Amino acid sequence: MPDTSIIIRCYNCLMLNRVPKVKLLTKPVCGNCKTILEFPRQPVWAKNENFDRSIAHWPETLLVIFMDQMCLFCKIVDPLVTDLARDKAGKLKVLKVDIETETEVAQRFKIEKTPTFIVYKNGVKVIRVDGAPKEKADLAKWVENLINFTSY
Ligand SMILES: [Zn+2]
Repeated sequence: MPDTSIIIRCYNCLMLNRVPKVKLLTKPVCGNCKTILEFPRQPVWAKNENFDRSIAHWPETLLVIFMDQMCLFCKIVDPLVTDLARDKAGKLKVLKVDIETETEVAQRFKIEKTPTFIVYKNGVKVIRVDGAPKEKADLAKWVENLINFTSY
């Protein structure tokens, strides 16, 4: 199937809407309740309380990054995922988890390295990668591949 439309869940009535990509820039509305369909254009910080819901409610590709404010590689990855979130808005949601504050989620996922990435597709886990590659130059491409791998 060609990659010409995406699915956005309405935050008001929770109905799934199929939206042609070309219409993303024109404030598409929910076919059911006419609420404007919102989708993030930048990474979103997840909390213990809303973590599971954030994953379950996003029907497209979701990239979760477990990070630590003190981690050097997290600092390098951060602007890359910010760019991705903007460039692939609607298709991709980026969820950041601070493992220092959101300890409940971090423990549940047994996070031992940062950054750890988990990619979900329609709420189902597709891939998990613990730790970033050592070569800084490869990082942008590597993150991009991680997304492309799952967004067929
Ligand atoms: Zn709606």
